[in-house]
Amino acid sequence: MNAPQRPPNADSPIPSPPNGEQEAENASPGGAGVAQEGGAEAAVASAMLADLKREMNRLQREIRLAIQAQLAQMSGRTLGSLEANRELARSIQEMLDAHGLRVRCTHCGHPAILRVSPRAGAAAGVFVFDHTIDGRRTFHGGRVLIPEIRLVAKPARKPRGEKKAG
Ligand SMILES: [Zn+2]
Repeated sequence: MNAPQRPPNADSPIPSPPNGEQEAENASPGGAGVAQEGGAEAAVASAMLADLKREMNRLQREIRLAIQAQLAQMSGRTLGSLEANRELARSIQEMLDAHGLRVRCTHCGHPAILRVSPRAGAAAGVFVFDHTIDGRRTFHGGRVLIPEIRLVAKPARKPRGEKKAG
């Protein structure tokens, strides 16, 4: 019970060889050498790209929200003429396209392009959502005032030449 139990090296002092500096060159304990394994480098690159992707997504989201906040101020208005409204819709579309965005159709929720169409009885035209649904070009909306604008990511293009089986 009371017998002293001392492991042999418990109190051994840290060995300090006389020529410590030279020894250190040969056997540096925590020295991170050059990573020679390809797997380690790939893991680093993959982590770096994942970080970058997260950062890009964050920035993209900020851009989307900033544009949306500005456009929200225009909803419920009209610029008063077909030409002015068309120019506005064109400018919006140009900006959204540059950032891979679309407006969300207020009727069906599909990503769409905001356009202004002439219509009898509406001198300044009407705002419509132009989108493709089930392979067919479809227009929704049709009000004389700028609709509520929600932005969504532009859908990925379908690969060309790929047809449905059957
Ligand atoms: Zn729609």
